[in-house]
Amino acid sequence: MMGGQAVHFCGAYEVPMTSRIRNQHVLVAGGAGFLGSHLCDRLLAEGARVVCLDNLLTGSLANLEGAFCHPHFEFVQADVVSSLPRTLTRRRFDRIYNLACAASPPLYQANPEHTLMTSVLGTKHLLDLAQEKGARFLLSSTSEIYGDPHVHPQPESYWGNVNSTGPRACYDEGKRCAETLSFDFDRAGRGEVRVARIFNTYGPRLSAADGRVVSNLVSQALSQADITVFGDGSQTRSFCYVDDLVGGLMALMEHDGPQPGPINLGNPTELTVRALVDVVLELTGSSSEVIYRPLPTDDPKRRRPDISKAAAVLDWRPTTSLTQGLNATIDWFDAQARSRSAEAPAEVVALSA
Ligand code: NAD
Ligand code: UDP
Repeated sequence: MMGGQAVHFCGAYEVPMTSRIRNQHVLVAGGAGFLGSHLCDRLLAEGARVVCLDNLLTGSLANLEGAFCHPHFEFVQADVVSSLPRTLTRRRFDRIYNLACAASPPLYQANPEHTLMTSVLGTKHLLDLAQEKGARFLLSSTSEIYGDPHVHPQPESYWGNVNSTGPRACYDEGKRCAETLSFDFDRAGRGEVRVARIFNTYGPRLSAADGRVVSNLVSQALSQADITVFGDGSQTRSFCYVDDLVGGLMALMEHDGPQPGPINLGNPTELTVRALVDVVLELTGSSSEVIYRPLPTDDPKRRRPDISKAAAVLDWRPTTSLTQGLNATIDWFDAQARSRSAEAPAEVVALSA
């Protein structure tokens, strides 16, 4: 699969004839990750031809199992920090989604320089490609650009409170810089840009090893392991289910007309991390103990999106409740754990044979 063009066809697909996205040529950078793989699936279901570009740093080919079955899907393994592979520069693209960047704090802090360059150089390379192809470009920015916010909930007009020298800065400042590049590109008339500021999103395909709160809590609860709460658990977040979020990304990409500016996408239902633990324990029926660990440096105390702009401009709002979304997530993590344990004995036999 290295170098791309690995295409498998596993069955027939019905494509809605009315879809605007039908036959669009779309590049999804970061498409093997949690959000990107769901986006690839949705675009394919709407009739698009999708090329996924990913270095598999935090994503996985397993996330693309369904996409690989589709005749209009291709995978190219490459790092957006480097010049883009020639196989891409020879292609037609109508839309370019840039989702490439590790999003989990422990993972994006593991190699901070690479994280920063992924947002800065990666966005520049993809914007250049968008200009060359005349493609509309969407940047997946983040609520982290608001830092530890002094304004609550956070509207797009808030400029944020980011520590530019702390351990989260490689991500936060990288995304802020990527926003700057994107809006300068748009202002210069080099192409059309859309910027989504994504708030905490969860769902199936979050990696159990990812380190984010929902994946940690659900996998700990299901395995009856201790539940790790960082700090006293009074910090808040607002969690959006992945299907809602992907719908928002696509609505923003397809929004025509003058530059709408950055748009928050997220679910405004806010709760403390400690309250989230209680919901997960209740839904899983787990008897895990809750243990407390130090709060990471610069961990934002409160976060909740003001989504009135998304509602007004895109007519978009999330519809999945936390209970519905967590139940779907728990079912998926449970199925993953069962399939791993079903495979384990065969491996032991093979090793001892
Ligand atoms: P993820 O880590 O699951 O996916 C990121 C993908 O990008 C992975 O497949 C990874 O291998 C790939 N990638 C990383 N660096 C790359 C590079 N240099 N070149 C090529 N590919 C690279 O994370 P996610 O949750 O799916 O997030 C996707 C995007 O959405 C990210 O840009 C993230 O900043 C943004 N976002 C996500 C959330 C969230 O809650 N999930 C919130 C805010 C913003
Ligand atoms: N968190 C926690 N336990 C964990 C993982 C995270 O209490 O096992 C906390 C973390 O300190 C933060 C919140 O949950 O306050 C959300 O963390 P996550 O890494 O998911 O996202 P982010 O901090 O980037 O919003």
